[in-house]
Amino acid sequence: MPQEITIIGGNVAGLASAYYLSKKGINVTVYESKIWNKPCGGAISLEFDYYLRNVLSVFLEGSDHFTERFRVGMWNGRCMEDEGIFRIISRHDLQEKLINRIEKEEGVKINFKQVSVRDNHLFTPQTIVATGYSGFSQKIFRRKWHPSEFAFTIRYDGIIEEGKFPNTNLIILDSKKMGYGWIFIGKGNHVNIGVGALAPREYVWKKYYELFNIIKEKYGYYIDTPQAKPKCWILPMLVNKLKYPVNQKQNGIEFIGVGDTLGLAHAISGAGIEPAWMSGWVLAESLNDKRQINVKKYTQLLKVNLRKTVWRRTDHLLSFLSRKPIPFKSSLGYYSLHIVRHRMIKMMRKYPWFAFVHNGIRETGFSLEKMSD
Ligand SMILES: Cc1cc2nc3c(=O)[nH]c(=O)nc-3n(C[C@H](O)[C@H](O)[C@H](O)COP(=O)(O)OP(=O)(O)OC[C@H]3O[C@@H](n4cnc5c(N)ncnc54)[C@H](O)[C@@H]3O)c2cc1C
Repeated sequence: MPQEITIIGGNVAGLASAYYLSKKGINVTVYESKIWNKPCGGAISLEFDYYLRNVLSVFLEGSDHFTERFRVGMWNGRCMEDEGIFRIISRHDLQEKLINRIEKEEGVKINFKQVSVRDNHLFTPQTIVATGYSGFSQKIFRRKWHPSEFAFTIRYDGIIEEGKFPNTNLIILDSKKMGYGWIFIGKGNHVNIGVGALAPREYVWKKYYELFNIIKEKYGYYIDTPQAKPKCWILPMLVNKLKYPVNQKQNGIEFIGVGDTLGLAHAISGAGIEPAWMSGWVLAESLNDKRQINVKKYTQLLKVNLRKTVWRRTDHLLSFLSRKPIPFKSSLGYYSLHIVRHRMIKMMRKYPWFAFVHNGIRETGFSLEKMSD
């Protein structure tokens, strides 16, 4: 009899878990409350987009658009420019297409239902928690979540008129409070503009409105400050990743976390789509002979992968420094980025964040050298 596993949360981490567990012959049932557009920057690497297209046959709306230039700037207007390394996609589109694709896998069932911790009849002895920052995750992992940090983020969506913007994506670092603003150009001159910071909500609101002036005055994006108040969102940012266990036992059920539930997003950029995918992949690689998830192995593999991808020594150092009250942080951030950016890009290519790395060998499902488009 194939083993059954329930997965709560059907976005990136939950769907990756479903996909890779089903490939190992496990029957999975995923519960997702609804498909929705997370207020996120929507940046994914070219490698992940290539993987989605060539391995999963998932073609995202933003896949045929690429903004070739990318700038990282400071609040005061100083910036550096490089070649683009990511595409901007819609989160609604990503979730919808992944659901449509993954429910075609043998042994995968996806149900639309908001699950509560009292729905004991739905849980299997090992149940996967892929519910990101949510009440469900907090109820299960409350002890672990307590000491972590949270970034408040706000995003605006709109269309920018042709000729009124430089054709580059832009990230603006705000060194006073740990965070940044972004302006990402998508298909059809669609822009998404946002701010995220490890700071109180009120501070993030203030920075959001300031950002519209700065991108106009210092960076040449002529877009009016929106009147409507956008929604605020929370992203868990674990500084000491995996210091706390990845599982929690409650009423005889072992709940195992993946993705944002464990705070796997990059501790500076907050990029978490690909680490979330990777965690589902790693989870399935941790099955033992009895077809159960070996949590010790899962933790070890996650640590190895995180150290090669979103949690390398330089990220660790920069995130540590950025959380300290050091004077001249803005210059420090600027020059550090100048020094490490080429190496960072090289490492991202060598160890793509979505992929499974074991014994130093990456498994992307395709050859990165052959990636031609
Ligand atoms: C403003 C902002 C900007 C960001 N920008 C980027 C970016 O540009 N690039 C990037 O890579 N990452 C970005 N991230 C991070 C990224 O959004 C997350 O790391 C990623 O979505 C994590 O995926 P996940 O599947 O773990 O969790 P989620 O995407 O949060 O998915 C959890 C799912 O569980 C469902 N759920 C929750 N509770 C229940 C329940 N009780 N029952 C059933 N279903 C439930 C939810 O509906 C949701 O679909 C950003 C985040 C924020 C907040």
